[in-house]
Amino acid sequence: MRGKLIVGNWKMNGSLAANAALLGELTAGWTATPGRELAVCVPYPYLMQAQAELSSTPIAWGAQDVSEHAAGAYTGEVAAAMLVEFGCRYAIVGHSERRQFYGDTDAVVAAKAKAALAAGLTPIACVGETLAERDDGATEAVVLRQLEAVLVALADKATQLVVAYEPVWAIGTGRTATPAQAQAVHATLRARLAKAGAGAVPLLYGGSVKADNAASLFAQTDIDGGLIGGASLKAGEFLAIARA
Ligand code: PEP
Repeated sequence: MRGKLIVGNWKMNGSLAANAALLGELTAGWTATPGRELAVCVPYPYLMQAQAELSSTPIAWGAQDVSEHAAGAYTGEVAAAMLVEFGCRYAIVGHSERRQFYGDTDAVVAAKAKAALAAGLTPIACVGETLAERDDGATEAVVLRQLEAVLVALADKATQLVVAYEPVWAIGTGRTATPAQAQAVHATLRARLAKAGAGAVPLLYGGSVKADNAASLFAQTDIDGGLIGGASLKAGEFLAIARA
């Protein structure tokens, strides 16, 4: 049986003081649990703090994005090798907020996933449809197109990927996909991954996951955990999700 992976995405939130409190509560409340992994993806400036607070704990950490380039004249960008220096295990790529506000195309997301993997990070590649795309019946086509770009870029390394299905209409809206809606998309993604020889990669669901809906989502056959935004900023809520 596949284990569960629960990843917090802090987005652009936090301060040294608030992070210290949150990480302190997480480390006090989480013990190594077979088949369950907990991680937080923090803003870049707080990676050193995450490393200091989490190094001797079972909680992993990572970044919320990464450059597709290895080094050079790319002002404002952060290279995968830099993230490795701060002990990151994960880098989220293709979050819908990056696609929507910063123009990350499928090709850019795929290049970022490739750069992350090449440096030794595990990319968490996000896919998901907008409400208009869902209403048009295009959900499958959209998520498969987004996944395809990453699979082509990673080729035989696709087994080292994590994929997160995050319907855009469910992110930060309080509106969650039903377990059946999420499972249906996950099954589609799983089938495509299996065709690429990567059927065992963790498939996370994200979009307004809370302590009270996590268990029913995580009980679905093809849901291997969650990518958690807002609820990952509250230690009690995040820990309850991680235990769900
Ligand atoms: C996210 O940002 O990845 C996310 C799923 O956000 P939220 O849980 O707040 O909907």
